[in-house]
Amino acid sequence: MDESSRVAWAFDLDGVLWTGRDPIQGSADAVAALVEGGHRVAFVTNNSFATVAEQEAKLASFGIAAQGRVITSAMAGASLVEEGERVYVLGGPGIVEAVEARGAVVVDGAGSGERADVVLVGLDRNLSYERLSGAVLALHAGARFVATNTDSTYPSERGMLPGGGSIVAAVRYATGAEPVVAGKPHDAQAQLVRSVLGPDGVMIGDRPETDGRFASAMGYRFGLVLTGVTGRDDLPIEPEPSWVEDDVARLVPRILAEL
Ligand SMILES: [Mg+2]
Repeated sequence: MDESSRVAWAFDLDGVLWTGRDPIQGSADAVAALVEGGHRVAFVTNNSFATVAEQEAKLASFGIAAQGRVITSAMAGASLVEEGERVYVLGGPGIVEAVEARGAVVVDGAGSGERADVVLVGLDRNLSYERLSGAVLALHAGARFVATNTDSTYPSERGMLPGGGSIVAAVRYATGAEPVVAGKPHDAQAQLVRSVLGPDGVMIGDRPETDGRFASAMGYRFGLVLTGVTGRDDLPIEPEPSWVEDDVARLVPRILAEL
């Protein structure tokens, strides 16, 4: 079977390959074997904060060669920005990197007298009142409002911390403006993944309202694993997965056998 005839694989990360820093037994090995076997594989994350190199390094630390395979909500957000546009970033280094890779220019915003075409908001661990005010002022001055994702929280060693969506919510509240949301399960990231992996694929994830809906947006089949936020007791779920398995180590061979 040549590579082009094989189905492509898109994987969510947290709750699928690991939980925080803790590996999920056998999952990374199963994915590493797919990569080494020449399958088309991408890792799709709403983590907009970390740079691509940092995310590739984390995957490498789990034994997965991920260079060029990570697709973030920051990249999806930047795909909604045109080359040469001026972007006020309320977010982290992953967003700045994606905006610059797009050929757009990161600016300090209306507060400093710099006009912005777009306000791009994600997780900003250096959030301050001044930075928040800059986003609000730029939107009042006519900039477009783009959000990398609307995840309210994300897991950490300290517990659940406020996610990019909580910062987006503050900007929405202050302006009454509604953002175009780029990350899973929305169209910008779906188009980005399809442009990399093609039209025939499977999306493997732990969360129906993001990963499952994202699979639908891409026209991919959805494989649910029970190592993350969804347990057996939560079934049935919508959208209905094509496959449900306890973990990736069981799901990958089942899909390979069926497709
Ligand atoms: Mg997940």
